[in-house]
Amino acid sequence: MDVAHYFINADEVETEIERVRKGRDAVIEEIRRLQTSITHMGPKEAPHELNALLDVHLMLLQDVELIGGVKHWITERLYNAEWALTTQLEVIARHFDEMEDEYLRERKADLEQIAERVLRAMKGALTPLAAHPKAQRSPRKGTQDLLLDDTVDVPLILIAHDLSPADMLQFKQSVFAGFITDVGGKTAHTAIVARSMDIPAVVGARTASQLVRQDDWVIIDGDAGVVIVDPSPIILAEYGFKQRQGELERGRLQRLLHTPAVTLDGEKIQLLANIEMPEDANVALKAGALGVGLFRSEFLFMGRRGQLPDEEEQYQAYKRAVEGMNGLPVTIRTVDVGADKPLDNSARDDAHLNPALGLRAIRWSLADPAMFLTQLRAILRAAAHGQVHLLVPMLAHAREIRQTLAHIDQARAMLDNRGVAFGAVKLGAMIEIPAAALSLKLFLKHFDFLSIGTNDLIQYTLAIDRADESVAHLYDPLHPAVLRLVADTIAECAAQGKGVSVCGEMAGDVTLTRLLLGLGLRSFSMHPAQILAVKQEILRADTQKLAVWAQRVLQAEDPSLEMAG
Ligand code: PEP
Ligand code: MG
Repeated sequence: MDVAHYFINADEVETEIERVRKGRDAVIEEIRRLQTSITHMGPKEAPHELNALLDVHLMLLQDVELIGGVKHWITERLYNAEWALTTQLEVIARHFDEMEDEYLRERKADLEQIAERVLRAMKGALTPLAAHPKAQRSPRKGTQDLLLDDTVDVPLILIAHDLSPADMLQFKQSVFAGFITDVGGKTAHTAIVARSMDIPAVVGARTASQLVRQDDWVIIDGDAGVVIVDPSPIILAEYGFKQRQGELERGRLQRLLHTPAVTLDGEKIQLLANIEMPEDANVALKAGALGVGLFRSEFLFMGRRGQLPDEEEQYQAYKRAVEGMNGLPVTIRTVDVGADKPLDNSARDDAHLNPALGLRAIRWSLADPAMFLTQLRAILRAAAHGQVHLLVPMLAHAREIRQTLAHIDQARAMLDNRGVAFGAVKLGAMIEIPAAALSLKLFLKHFDFLSIGTNDLIQYTLAIDRADESVAHLYDPLHPAVLRLVADTIAECAAQGKGVSVCGEMAGDVTLTRLLLGLGLRSFSMHPAQILAVKQEILRADTQKLAVWAQRVLQAEDPSLEMAG
């Protein structure tokens, strides 16, 4: 919880101490009330584990170190009550971190939870604790909410056999708090859109849609890829703490919003956003992105029942994104449909045996020059309103590069003939097919910058369909072959002084930030929700040390072991 920090006058010390005491007493009273109500429950429904947890909370609330510490900060430093409480919380949390005993270490979450409740009580915003999940509002849902949660609404979860990325996008404004699908892989586009919505999702849960019944309670652990149906009170409580911890962590990360992303050894790192719709620019800015590294323009083309957006509609959409970024660069990728991104659900490509290897992305664009030229004109026109980078997906052949560049020239000439204003763009290519990663000199001859699409680069290097859950365990960003292609691309761009970024899911994975920095990457593009966590890793990193370590990881037979060791 964000709290105000200010110094009080010496004559306000007593009042501030009294405010904390009152807040703490209110929480103690609330817990005792809940314990009484549990005692009156029948033996079957009384959640014993909960009672034990409440005892722990009571104990922590009465802890002399907490009370004494708060008094100290108020009296000696003249901190306001909330500041004193959060400062003391940090002091005690550090002690917990140092504890050998895992059980005790984990009680830090309890401490944070009670401190938050005291803060709420001080604000007069304490809501009653519930011993039971609240009544459910509608079918097909579960909850991540917990016994100790005090939010009023029950979150809804959508469980389906399959959801297309376009379906998912429609849910952006919806009430769903989580998604589960039977099919799909972690970097399939449906999962990517769920991640961009910053809500928990598990894809590839095989038969979930048949096994989970209407009105079941469900926990979605998106990080672990775990779905728990009908959890026991103790599991619910555990996840409640986890959830609370996650929220606290996010709150803490907000402090980094205006901190420049610079490593310990002074390397400036560019953090960019991946967006699906022009309106996402706003979210990107709020998350502290310094530009858009990937605007997946295909989302403008989906769910249109064959009526593709015309030049004017596209121009307006790109212009909104460009203007939305207030002068920061926007990288617009030309349409990338096909494979797991069908234009319409009815047009799912089941006819071809290997849609991922079929008419996708630039191949699709070059197969329909009128459509491609329309998009290029719209992007070039939007470039009159700000910094636009034009990015081309899935290139592999010199012939494709030549054709693409010829189309861009033609689009400029058409606008010139019509006397319509357009702007200069930097030209970039995605490196997402191994053949491209092995032809870097060709690419760098023609393009101003490269963007590594690790989602597809992994898929095509390892021959693993990214949307197929049955091979999801083989989808490995740390495979030495993948790392070699990524490392070589970064190194070749650096050698030629050309820009390079990673815009696949690897860029937003905090467990890989150090490795990518060590490989020389200085520009990362990811979902806005991941930016601050990645920034935190950057602030703690020393790229010179990481470069030496990254070479060892690169040479290792099993890089994941080297990373762990
Ligand atoms: C990628 O392949 O890594 C990428 C960023 O593009 P997409 O996920 O849209 O295929
Ligand atoms: Mg791709």
